Amino acid sequence: MVDLLLFWHRRDLRLGDNVGLAAARDRTPQVVGVFCFDPGILNNGDVAPARVAYMIGCLERLQDSYAQAGGQLLILQGDPRAQIPALAKALAVDAIHWNRDVEPYSRQRDTAVVEALKEAGIEFRTTFWDQLLHEPGDVRTGTGEPYTVYTPFWRNWAKRSKAAPLPTPEGLQPLSAQQVDIAKQVGCIALPSAADLGFVWENGFPVEPGEQGALERLEEFCDGSHAIDGYDEQRNFPFVDGTSRLSAALKFGAIGIRTVWAATEAAYGQSRSDETRSGVQTWQQELAWREFYQHVMYFFPELAEGPYRAPLKDFPWVNDEEQFAAWCEGRTGYPIVDAAMRQLNEMGWMHNRCRMIVASFLTKDLIVNWQWGEKYFMQRLVDGDLSSNNGGWQWSASSGMDPKPLRIFNPASQAQKFDAEAEYIRKWVPELRSLDTELLVTGKIAERDRGDYPAPIVDHKIQQALFKDKYKAQRV
Ligand SMILES: Cc1cc2nc3c(=O)[nH]c(=O)nc-3n(C[C@H](O)[C@H](O)[C@H](O)COP(=O)(O)OP(=O)(O)OC[C@H]3O[C@@H](n4cnc5c(N)ncnc54)[C@H](O)[C@@H]3O)c2cc1C
Repeated sequence: MVDLLLFWHRRDLRLGDNVGLAAARDRTPQVVGVFCFDPGILNNGDVAPARVAYMIGCLERLQDSYAQAGGQLLILQGDPRAQIPALAKALAVDAIHWNRDVEPYSRQRDTAVVEALKEAGIEFRTTFWDQLLHEPGDVRTGTGEPYTVYTPFWRNWAKRSKAAPLPTPEGLQPLSAQQVDIAKQVGCIALPSAADLGFVWENGFPVEPGEQGALERLEEFCDGSHAIDGYDEQRNFPFVDGTSRLSAALKFGAIGIRTVWAATEAAYGQSRSDETRSGVQTWQQELAWREFYQHVMYFFPELAEGPYRAPLKDFPWVNDEEQFAAWCEGRTGYPIVDAAMRQLNEMGWMHNRCRMIVASFLTKDLIVNWQWGEKYFMQRLVDGDLSSNNGGWQWSASSGMDPKPLRIFNPASQAQKFDAEAEYIRKWVPELRSLDTELLVTGKIAERDRGDYPAPIVDHKIQQALFKDKYKAQRV
């Protein structure tokens, strides 16, 4: 018999379509939510102010949602290994639930919390996979191995039936005044602001924080603007608002993945042409990339530490710190690269096409270790996520699981193809705004036209050859 149940939110900052929470509500109306600010994460040096601010925005709205449902969200600050069991014990809860995660840090932390709960004799249920449509291990090769290549993973993943969205819990019961006092005594606090935690972010977000904002954006993308229908083509143009911008919501679970999938199925059902059907399916493939990277992180946690491909482990990177700083600050002299890095620094978000361009530029043109770029992205991205970020960087650096690994992007060809009118470049590199489009996309800007804008810090042709030589020498 369960009276009081604690639900620990981590990357599932919503009430609706939440697997572990719905299971909790099935057991009792007295479900109390808790979120713990973990200094082990906040102080690890890889935290973007935009991400903290977005997360706190989600928590504010989650607190409101709990209150509307009749319940409560408690806030803790400190090491969850100690804090969560201490709260559970002090409140004498009958059980605790949480949704599982794939990241190595989270898995170690959860194991420690489970040990402490066992010692305290508190029941725990931690087998819920909420953030994925298919849990790691469900989708395997014919010989029962985890996939290491995306395309066969996608084929197998796509044909499996997907769970429907779960209802939003209602009729929750709040803690008594006495229980609230107890919670305070063991360290529960009011929700801090990002500034309270030492992070300042004033530049807004690609999607409004919280469940409602994410649901509205999904509705707009699939049913309002119908951008999903033209996604196949439009997703490649960074100046066009052709992608969902839901990545931060998916990272923090402000929206349930089953809800997202159901919206894609509805859009597919309403499609009237092959073109729109292909738009929807390409977007579904992006959701599958997200799952692929989480599955491989689960089975190959060593990915988080460095290159997957052995010959790349001791790659002779050049690692010029000044050139790296120029890349970070958007002053490489390559307009498309600089536009993208400035978008990242200002918005905390960057278009996928540009993520690929700047990652290729850092690793293949500047020959800087991709892990520097991976870290910088984590320090800036509102959607920064270990699995997707690591996957994207290893793909770009030719160090990952990609079966056709050696890809080198030519920044000029990329700009000519995907920003042909230089609208994106003009938006983010305003000092070049008045120059001819041809100069902006090719980057061939004469000194007299450049003003304060830097000359290219490297020559793409020379660097490409140098990278190829180094790559060959590694016998990849
Ligand atoms: C070097 C590099 C680093 C990246 N770092 C991250 C990261 O830290 N966090 C992150 O969420 N994505 C990352 N991506 C993937 C991708 O760029 C973003 O998910 C996408 O740009 C987010 O915009 P959106 O929500 O409008 O995406 P949409 O195009 O609308 O796609 C829908 C969703 O699918 C998922 N998705 C799309 N593309 C990818 C992909 N290639 N890999 C994994 N998931 C994908 C995201 O959850 C995204 O929100 C990275 C890509 C590269 C090349």
